[in-house]
Amino acid sequence: MEADEYNKKRDFRKTPEPAGMPEPKRAKDPRFVVQEHQSSTRHFDLRLERDGVLQSWAVPKGIPQTKGVRNLAIRTEDHPLEYADFEGTIPEGEYGAGEVKIWDHGFYEPLEWGEDKIEVMLKGNRISGVYVLVRYKKAGGNDWLLLKARE
Ligand code: MN
Repeated sequence: MEADEYNKKRDFRKTPEPAGMPEPKRAKDPRFVVQEHQSSTRHFDLRLERDGVLQSWAVPKGIPQTKGVRNLAIRTEDHPLEYADFEGTIPEGEYGAGEVKIWDHGFYEPLEWGEDKIEVMLKGNRISGVYVLVRYKKAGGNDWLLLKARE
Protein backbone atom coordinates (compact mmCIF):
# COMPACT_ATOMS: atom_id res chain seq x y z
CA MET A 1 0.00 0.00 0.00
CA GLU A 2 2.66 2.48 1.05
CA ALA A 3 4.97 1.38 -1.75
CA ASP A 4 2.17 1.90 -4.27
CA GLU A 5 1.64 5.53 -3.28
CA TYR A 6 5.39 6.21 -3.35
CA ASN A 7 5.84 4.44 -6.69
CA LYS A 8 2.92 6.19 -8.37
CA LYS A 9 4.49 9.61 -7.85
CA ARG A 10 7.77 8.68 -9.52
CA ASP A 11 9.03 7.64 -12.94
CA PHE A 12 11.85 5.22 -12.18
CA ARG A 13 13.22 5.55 -15.70
CA LYS A 14 14.03 9.16 -14.82
CA THR A 15 14.71 9.35 -11.10
CA PRO A 16 17.64 7.58 -9.46
CA GLU A 17 15.52 6.91 -6.37
CA PRO A 18 14.82 3.26 -5.54
CA ALA A 19 11.49 1.78 -6.50
CA GLY A 20 9.42 0.34 -3.67
CA MET A 21 8.77 -3.37 -3.72
CA PRO A 22 5.24 -4.16 -4.95
CA GLU A 23 3.10 -6.38 -2.79
CA PRO A 24 3.28 -10.07 -3.74
CA LYS A 25 0.09 -11.36 -5.32
CA ARG A 26 0.35 -14.43 -3.16
CA ALA A 27 2.56 -14.88 -0.12
CA LYS A 28 4.53 -17.63 -1.84
CA ASP A 29 5.29 -15.79 -5.07
CA PRO A 30 9.04 -15.95 -5.75
CA ARG A 31 11.10 -12.79 -6.23
CA PHE A 32 12.83 -11.46 -9.29
CA VAL A 33 15.40 -8.72 -9.68
CA VAL A 34 17.00 -6.90 -12.60
CA GLN A 35 20.38 -5.35 -11.79
CA GLU A 36 22.06 -2.85 -14.07
CA HIS A 37 25.73 -3.78 -14.16
CA GLN A 38 28.35 -1.34 -15.44
CA SER A 39 31.14 -3.86 -15.93
CA SER A 40 33.53 -4.03 -18.91
CA THR A 41 30.37 -4.27 -21.02
CA ARG A 42 27.21 -2.72 -19.60
CA HIS A 43 24.38 -5.21 -19.26
CA PHE A 44 21.36 -6.09 -17.17
CA ASP A 45 21.24 -9.19 -14.99
CA LEU A 46 17.83 -10.84 -14.78
CA ARG A 47 17.55 -13.12 -11.76
CA LEU A 48 14.60 -15.34 -10.89
CA GLU A 49 14.25 -17.03 -7.50
CA ARG A 50 13.94 -20.77 -8.06
CA ASP A 51 14.82 -23.80 -5.93
CA GLY A 52 16.57 -21.72 -3.29
CA VAL A 53 18.83 -19.78 -5.66
CA LEU A 54 18.61 -16.93 -8.17
CA GLN A 55 18.76 -18.38 -11.66
CA SER A 56 20.50 -15.70 -13.71
CA TRP A 57 20.83 -14.34 -17.23
CA ALA A 58 22.94 -11.43 -18.48
CA VAL A 59 20.94 -9.38 -20.98
CA PRO A 60 23.19 -6.91 -22.88
CA LYS A 61 20.31 -4.92 -24.41
CA GLY A 62 18.09 -5.00 -21.34
CA ILE A 63 14.60 -6.27 -20.68
CA PRO A 64 12.33 -5.82 -23.72
CA GLN A 65 9.48 -3.43 -22.92
CA THR A 66 7.72 -3.97 -26.22
CA LYS A 67 5.81 -7.08 -27.15
CA GLY A 68 7.65 -9.28 -29.64
CA VAL A 69 11.14 -7.80 -29.17
CA ARG A 70 13.68 -10.58 -28.60
CA ASN A 71 16.90 -9.86 -26.74
CA LEU A 72 19.82 -12.18 -26.24
CA ALA A 73 20.05 -13.46 -22.64
CA ILE A 74 23.16 -15.34 -21.62
CA ARG A 75 22.68 -17.87 -18.82
CA THR A 76 25.17 -17.21 -16.04
CA GLU A 77 25.86 -19.00 -12.77
CA ASP A 78 23.20 -19.25 -10.08
CA HIS A 79 23.52 -16.55 -7.46
CA PRO A 80 22.56 -16.78 -3.77
CA LEU A 81 19.15 -15.35 -2.81
CA GLU A 82 20.86 -12.57 -0.84
CA TYR A 83 22.23 -11.17 -4.11
CA ALA A 84 18.74 -9.84 -4.95
CA ASP A 85 19.37 -6.95 -2.55
CA PHE A 86 22.92 -6.20 -3.68
CA GLU A 87 23.85 -2.75 -4.92
CA GLY A 88 27.38 -1.42 -4.86
CA THR A 89 30.71 -1.35 -6.61
CA ILE A 90 32.68 -4.53 -7.28
CA PRO A 91 36.34 -3.48 -7.00
CA GLU A 92 38.80 -3.36 -9.92
CA GLY A 93 40.43 -6.71 -10.54
CA GLU A 94 37.51 -8.68 -9.06
CA TYR A 95 35.10 -10.75 -11.13
CA GLY A 96 32.48 -8.46 -12.69
CA ALA A 97 34.25 -5.28 -11.53
CA GLY A 98 31.99 -2.25 -11.81
CA GLU A 99 28.85 -0.73 -10.39
CA VAL A 100 25.69 -2.77 -9.71
CA LYS A 101 22.34 -1.05 -9.23
CA ILE A 102 18.91 -2.55 -8.78
CA TRP A 103 16.99 -1.51 -11.89
CA ASP A 104 13.76 -3.26 -10.98
CA HIS A 105 12.52 -5.90 -8.58
CA GLY A 106 9.30 -7.56 -7.61
CA PHE A 107 7.59 -10.90 -7.71
CA TYR A 108 6.73 -13.36 -10.42
CA GLU A 109 4.42 -16.20 -11.13
CA PRO A 110 5.97 -19.18 -12.95
CA LEU A 111 3.64 -20.19 -15.79
CA GLU A 112 5.92 -22.77 -17.40
CA TRP A 113 9.38 -23.95 -16.31
CA GLY A 114 11.05 -26.36 -18.70
CA GLU A 115 14.57 -27.23 -19.83
CA ASP A 116 14.33 -25.07 -22.95
CA LYS A 117 11.45 -22.71 -22.21
CA ILE A 118 10.52 -20.65 -19.18
CA GLU A 119 7.41 -18.48 -19.06
CA VAL A 120 6.81 -16.10 -16.18
CA MET A 121 4.43 -13.32 -15.24
CA LEU A 122 6.63 -10.56 -13.87
CA LYS A 123 5.22 -7.98 -11.50
CA GLY A 124 7.73 -5.21 -10.90
CA ASN A 125 7.69 -1.44 -11.02
CA ARG A 126 9.23 -0.88 -14.44
CA ILE A 127 8.38 -4.17 -16.03
CA SER A 128 5.24 -6.21 -15.79
CA GLY A 129 3.70 -8.77 -18.04
CA VAL A 130 4.36 -12.22 -19.39
CA TYR A 131 7.96 -12.86 -20.41
CA VAL A 132 9.36 -15.91 -22.15
CA LEU A 133 12.91 -17.24 -22.07
CA VAL A 134 13.70 -19.78 -24.78
CA ARG A 135 16.95 -21.59 -25.32
CA TYR A 136 18.51 -20.32 -28.54
CA LYS A 137 19.47 -23.70 -29.93
CA LYS A 138 21.21 -22.43 -33.06
CA ALA A 139 23.68 -20.55 -30.92
CA GLY A 140 24.04 -23.41 -28.45
CA GLY A 141 25.71 -23.20 -25.06
CA ASN A 142 24.28 -20.65 -22.68
CA ASP A 143 22.44 -18.45 -25.15
CA TRP A 144 18.76 -17.84 -24.63
CA LEU A 145 16.30 -15.32 -26.04
CA LEU A 146 14.17 -13.15 -23.78
CA LEU A 147 10.96 -11.71 -25.11
CA LYS A 148 7.87 -9.98 -23.84
CA ALA A 149 4.89 -12.12 -24.80
CA ARG A 150 2.01 -9.99 -23.50
CA GLU A 151 0.94 -7.47 -20.89
MN1 MN B 1 26.54 -8.97 -14.48
